Amino acid sequence: MTPRVVVLSAPSGGGKTTIAKALLARRPDVGYSVSATTRPPRPGEQNSVAYHFLSRNEFARRRDAGEFVEWAEYAGEWYGTLQSEVDRVLRSERHVLLDIDVQGAAQVQGRYPPPQSIGIFILPPSAAAWGRRLVGRGTESPASLERRLEQAIAEIRQSSDWRHIVINDDLNGAVGEVARIIDEDGARPHRPRPDQVSRLVEALVREADRLRHGVKGD
Ligand code: ADP
Ligand code: 5GP
Repeated sequence: MTPRVVVLSAPSGGGKTTIAKALLARRPDVGYSVSATTRPPRPGEQNSVAYHFLSRNEFARRRDAGEFVEWAEYAGEWYGTLQSEVDRVLRSERHVLLDIDVQGAAQVQGRYPPPQSIGIFILPPSAAAWGRRLVGRGTESPASLERRLEQAIAEIRQSSDWRHIVINDDLNGAVGEVARIIDEDGARPHRPRPDQVSRLVEALVREADRLRHGVKGD
C-alpha cells in the first residue's frame, strides 16, 4: 500500500467532519492531519485534537516560516495544514486524511499531484436535509452562518470539477464509498450521474440563498 494524501472537502454542514471521524474509527490505516486555525474552539473541541488553535500572530509567524502545506481564509478565519502533521502520518505508513476547504484542496493538489493525493467532494443529499443539518448543528452565530453560506454557494458551484463525489445520504453508505475510493487508490472516477449532480447543485444553491435571507431577517 502506498500512503496517500486524502482530501475531504464539502460545503459547511455537508458532513465531512462526521465522515472523517467514522472513517478514522474503522480504518487503522488512515490517520488525521490536525489543522491549525484562528477560529475559537466550539464546545467540546480540544486543542491539538480538533485543531491546533492559534492566535493570528502565531498563525502568521508559522505561515511565514513556511510551516504550512496550504492555508486559506474561510468565513473570516484562517485555516492551514501543517507539513509536520502530514509527514507524521505518512511516516507511519498510513494514508493521511485532510478535512479542508476547496481553496486548500486546490493547493494540496499542486503540492501532491494525483495519484499522490485523492480529492473527494462530499455533497448533502438534498436541500432540506442540508438545511436541517447545518442549522441543527447549532454551532454558528448568525454572522458566521451567513459567511459560511456565502462560501458554500461558491463551493457547491464547483462540485463538478471533482474526480470523486460522494453524496452523504446514509452515513454508513457515504463512509463506505470514501473507503472504496481509497482502496481503489483513486484510480476510477467516482461520481453520481452528471444530471443528478447538476440538479442537486441547483437545489443546494437555492437553499443557501433562502437560508441567507432568513439569517439576515429580510
Ligand atoms: P461539516 O464538517 O461538513 O461542516 P458536519 O460533519 O459537522 O459537517 O455535519 C453537519 C451536521 O450534520 C452534524 O450535526 C452531523 O451530525 C450531521 N450529519 C452529518 N452526516 C449525516 C448523515 N449522513 N445523516 C444525518 N446527519 C448527518
Ligand atoms: P470549521 O470552522 O467548520 O471547523 O471549518 C470551516 C472550514 O475550514 C471547513 O470547510 C473545513 O474543512 C476547513 N478547514 C479546516 N481545516 C482546514 C485547513 O487546514 N486548511 C483549509 N484550507 N481549510 C480547512
